[in-house]
Amino acid sequence: MKIVLASRNKKKINEVLTLLKEHGMADISVLSLDDIGMTDEIEEDGTTFAENAIIKASVPASLGYIGIADDSGLAVDALGGAPGVYSARYAGEPCDDEKNNQKLLSELANTPDEERTAQYVCAMACVFPDGRQFTVEGSCKGRILREYHGDGGFGYDPLFYYPGYQKTFAEITPEMKNRVSHRGKAINDFCKKLSEMLVFPPSLSSKNRAYLRSLATSMQPIFQIGKGGITGEICKQLSNALEARELIKITVLETCYVSAKEAAEMIADVIGANVVAVTGRKIVLYRESTENKKIFL
Ligand code: IMP
Repeated sequence: MKIVLASRNKKKINEVLTLLKEHGMADISVLSLDDIGMTDEIEEDGTTFAENAIIKASVPASLGYIGIADDSGLAVDALGGAPGVYSARYAGEPCDDEKNNQKLLSELANTPDEERTAQYVCAMACVFPDGRQFTVEGSCKGRILREYHGDGGFGYDPLFYYPGYQKTFAEITPEMKNRVSHRGKAINDFCKKLSEMLVFPPSLSSKNRAYLRSLATSMQPIFQIGKGGITGEICKQLSNALEARELIKITVLETCYVSAKEAAEMIADVIGANVVAVTGRKIVLYRESTENKKIFL
């Protein structure tokens, strides 16, 4: 099963992949936007972290992939939640951690210690091509110091004091940070939810696959997928068709942006079906129906 993380950050992709595997999703590969040929910048114009995560995860979903994304930042109470969704570019473009930290210090220069409370927030979103979606949010409370402590971490970490460790996030190991951080918490909840939504159909034996393939030879394709690609509507229609028939054949035209094999795998991942065969431009899918059982197998 393939899912697409709407990011180009290889470190982030590996971190998510590791956590998904730890949550029992061994059969998953995580692709980046580059891997699916998506080179355009995504405009993150949401007003909340969750909105931005949904905006980003919707991009791969609009192309037929299961899309996931995160968005995070720092919310300082005395600044009414700023820098918030503007955390990366608080001091303007291009993003610069040092300038952001200096701006934060100057904005808080007259704020007394007891009012320098803040939290890191991380939202994660998953959007399926057929419209199903969910978000989770993790947060981590701390305080903004008046000077830098430590040289680990990134972003606002040298100023973010975490009372639980009595240290800033720049003074602790990545493992210690992951255990309590906004991102660590969000990823854990996210993986639990995602594993509930993904459907891994029982794998087909080669004997059953051959039998289904022989049944499909005389079948006519019921759909054509062309340059419109794998839309949510098509996924829904195919899922309904499988509910009634258990075995369906589809044609993937040359104008589709992915090969017939890729299209078959993408659809199967979204609707929880098995790919029985890909022959030229024809693909055959099987899913045992819960209601209208034909009991082919
Ligand atoms: P993004 O979600 O990767 O776009 O991160 C947004 C921005 O929020 C980063 O550029 C940092 O400025 C800030 N940020 C988010 N998480 C952290 C963190 O764990 N430590 C420090 N800064 C963070």
